[in-house]
Amino acid sequence: MDLILSDLHANLHALRVVLRHARRRAIQRFVILGDLVGYGANPNQVLDHLRELRPRVALRGNHDHACTEEGQDLSFSPPARQAALWTRERLSRENLHFLQELPIGPLYVGDDYAIAHGSPVDEDAYLLHPRDALTAFEAFKGSLCFFGHTHLPGFFELDEVAGTLQWQNPQPGEWVDLVPGRRYLVNPGSVGQPRDRDPRLSFMAFDPRRRRVRLIRLEYDVRGAARAILKAGLHPHLAERLGFGM
Ligand code: ZN
Repeated sequence: MDLILSDLHANLHALRVVLRHARRRAIQRFVILGDLVGYGANPNQVLDHLRELRPRVALRGNHDHACTEEGQDLSFSPPARQAALWTRERLSRENLHFLQELPIGPLYVGDDYAIAHGSPVDEDAYLLHPRDALTAFEAFKGSLCFFGHTHLPGFFELDEVAGTLQWQNPQPGEWVDLVPGRRYLVNPGSVGQPRDRDPRLSFMAFDPRRRRVRLIRLEYDVRGAARAILKAGLHPHLAERLGFGM
């Protein structure tokens, strides 16, 4: 079993709940789709935990890039830019090095599936519309690619025989079988800053043997994470949005 985590955004309160879930089920295989830091108040603790996990693969996200290289945050909103600068100033030498060494997607995890931060076409692209998904399906081999960046859980399902492409919102907790012959672009949602109006943290489990995925939504200490952001002097909007899941 692989746990697919994306957009953790230095949210230690959320990550702790994910790690407890994994420990209880003795799951030790983690794949991380990028944006480990940025927005949240605990970049070093989050990175310490993630390094300890020894993920199968961890990709670079646009915030990881911005937090390690000056001049990479020009497209960010003022709160995001301030958070990137704040993070850059506080990262330990080990954690800075770890972030700088993260590979750029798309990559393949064994023979099982591809991964990308934004899209297999471009790590910074937002994969929201079917027309963008069609281009993205051309950019990877095999039947399955996980992506993040939009913070919206769900998946595109392409059936080339029937000529259909649909976005699906799976029910949390239910296993979804990937149909042989169809192709999938799957977003596990965001651990650290959900944006689908559901404040519960979001990630997915993938069962490579039975080719099925499960969306997992869990409650965590949203108030604690918000308080930490305010205490750190980061923009209050970054604290508030956690409560709305926006
Ligand atoms: Zn993100």
